[in-house]
Amino acid sequence: MMSMETIREVAAWLKDFDERQVTITFHGGEPLLAGPKFYREALHLLSDELSHLKPTFAIQTNLWLMTPELAQIFAAYQVPIGSSIDGPKEINDIQRGTGYFDKTMHGYRIARENGLFVRFICTFTRQSVDHREEIFHFFMENGFALKLHPALPSLKGDNPEKWALAPEKYGDLLIYLLDKYLENLDTAEIMNINDLLKSVFTRTGNVCTFNDCMGNTFAIGPDGSIYPCYRFVGMPEWVMGKVYERPTKADLAESRAWKLMHAFKDFVDEHCKECPHIRYCRGGCPYNAIAPTGGRVEAEDPHCPAYKQIFDEFNDRLNKELYGSAPTDMGMGGPRRKKRKGKAGIMDLMQKMVSE
Ligand code: SF4
Ligand code: SF4
Repeated sequence: MMSMETIREVAAWLKDFDERQVTITFHGGEPLLAGPKFYREALHLLSDELSHLKPTFAIQTNLWLMTPELAQIFAAYQVPIGSSIDGPKEINDIQRGTGYFDKTMHGYRIARENGLFVRFICTFTRQSVDHREEIFHFFMENGFALKLHPALPSLKGDNPEKWALAPEKYGDLLIYLLDKYLENLDTAEIMNINDLLKSVFTRTGNVCTFNDCMGNTFAIGPDGSIYPCYRFVGMPEWVMGKVYERPTKADLAESRAWKLMHAFKDFVDEHCKECPHIRYCRGGCPYNAIAPTGGRVEAEDPHCPAYKQIFDEFNDRLNKELYGSAPTDMGMGGPRRKKRKGKAGIMDLMQKMVSE
């Protein structure tokens, strides 16, 4: 549990740290355990002290402890909710434990009744990927936007691969979902496909995984320790400094964690330089690449084959739509595309995203 004193220190540290707009996400553990008094004070304090940075807020929670009182506090600060549901009850509860689904849905209803925006992340594992159709329909039927997360090998326990989704399976899943999305373009919403496609079109990563995240994202542990990202919290070797010491960016740059994150950036510049997707992939997530090796920078994100697969697929389909066949390059600014007959294509999806 982070004390209010530490929240105050976070605000004091952030105040002069950077001039850019800031988004603060409450993460856990389970952040609703902190209770309404904590959020009433923390949201007020952070909004007030950091008003020049125009702070926005978010929370990542399983929603079990959501109450009307909490929901009203979050609504007052327009806090969007990120939660997790892995598909229909039977699939979800195998992965997350009996009773999970009902408790999350109960909290979801309270959040919605109070006007909160809720989005679910769906973790696909090596087991659940066989039920991808059921999972897709579950999200469709409930009107939920789908954001997927591939299960990674665990860094703890003696069976790290038990749930992990192999990169090839992840790539196949992305292409399967792209097709389902195009078949249901008017009703479906698949966030990862949107983000990936937007990255290809704009030639720059649109989510942290595909953008050099170092120096743009930090996480603060409950004791005020600063990490490069929430995924490193609790790993002492990744602490970059403490909010109590009010480190500047230059101070953080002296830490081992900062140097390793930047070593990854340099590694990608060299190692991925022949890859046609380097500008909007940037080697993927540094945590995925270097946390499992204990800090050795020796490879790109292990999901590289999946990223290549979906980026290639976008480019190939786009070339076909624009030119009829011959895959050359993206063809931006090239000839006008052919008129659509039947199933929607990549350009239709792009138009939908632009119009929304
Ligand atoms: S380490 Fe990975 S998850 Fe964390 S901010 Fe960077 S890309 Fe995102
Ligand atoms: S797709 Fe693979 S090789 Fe290409 S930039 Fe991404 S991680 Fe590197």
